[in-house]
Amino acid sequence: MNKTDYPKTGGFTLIELLLSLAVIGILSSVLVVAVGRAKAAANSAKCSAHMRYWQAMVPMFAADHNGKLPRTTFNDPINDGQNKETVINLLPYCDMPDTMSEHERWAWAMENQCTEEGWHFGANSYISRAPMATITDPARQIFFIDMYSGRWLTGTVLNGGQGGFLLYRSPKPHNGMVTVGFLDGHVEPRMLSSITYGMILTPDSKGYDSKKDKPIISVEEDLQYQ
Ligand SMILES: [Zn+2]
Repeated sequence: MNKTDYPKTGGFTLIELLLSLAVIGILSSVLVVAVGRAKAAANSAKCSAHMRYWQAMVPMFAADHNGKLPRTTFNDPINDGQNKETVINLLPYCDMPDTMSEHERWAWAMENQCTEEGWHFGANSYISRAPMATITDPARQIFFIDMYSGRWLTGTVLNGGQGGFLLYRSPKPHNGMVTVGFLDGHVEPRMLSSITYGMILTPDSKGYDSKKDKPIISVEEDLQYQ
């Protein structure tokens, strides 16, 4: 048997090799997309769980403060006039060991908010210190919402300035959606175009009636700034 008589073994031809590489490429890109989606879904669920935790403390706070909601604007007299976040007002209702220092509690409060880099929970400034009893439809009144950088849901955000912390901030943290917490305690991811002025403003806020059912952003803009 000379050299040329060896039977062909299972080696790859160039075409087979290229085909294999192409298939591996397609499979791994599908996997990357699937893993990315799973991670995004997990982050969204975690953000919702964090918000649900904070939302649950809001009625507890109100019960201890003549039925009034926490202050959700700057210069909070409850905190010695200091510019502290709404979650700090709720910290006493968190289930934390007494041994935790104030610094550790603060760090914990910052950590347990939106899961995306630069995003936090903003509180609705239009219902700051409002008596809870005056909120006629708690299941449709927003208390917390995912916000970029800012911690208060204010007129600036709703007016939609280009530097807005929410409306034109792109990408939105959870597949085009933000996490929203309502005063009845339920939390859900929402497209901004599914949020109306009526969910944010109180009945005594200027322009409430005319804007009540108007979405804060159009579907077209929402898709553009996802
Ligand atoms: Zn979030």
